[in-house]
Amino acid sequence: MVECIFCRIASGAAPARFVLEAPRVIAFHDIRPLAPTHVLVTPREHVPSLWELADRELAGELLDAARQVAHQCGLERGFRVITNARHDGGQEVEHLHVHVLGGRRMGPMVARLF
Ligand code: 5GP
Ligand code: ZN
Repeated sequence: MVECIFCRIASGAAPARFVLEAPRVIAFHDIRPLAPTHVLVTPREHVPSLWELADRELAGELLDAARQVAHQCGLERGFRVITNARHDGGQEVEHLHVHVLGGRRMGPMVARLF
């Protein structure tokens, strides 16, 4: 049994509200949204964090999927893309993912992230 929750979502073993399902990347709504739109974009394969991401093609696919999510969710007013990496980055789920946040005015980075 696979323990990683995002591997389980990618394989269909755990449920998620999908926004995008591509061959190498998927996107689904965050279970605890921090904005009206809060979607996670993640590779199907288990990469622990951005630190370990050596596949530049996959890196491009993740960013392009974030762009597609923004379009699909109607975030033309703007959005924020974040990835938390490892302990000091505040990463909780140790499977690389990119947050796409939108639907409200984001606060200044200095107040919200540091
Ligand atoms: P991190 O802090 O690792 O960057 O963010 C992990 C995110 O994954 C959090 O925003 C959290 O709400 C979300 N999350 C954790 N478990 C699940 C889950 O089982 N399903 C979904 N859709 N999101 C999850
Ligand atoms: Zn995983």
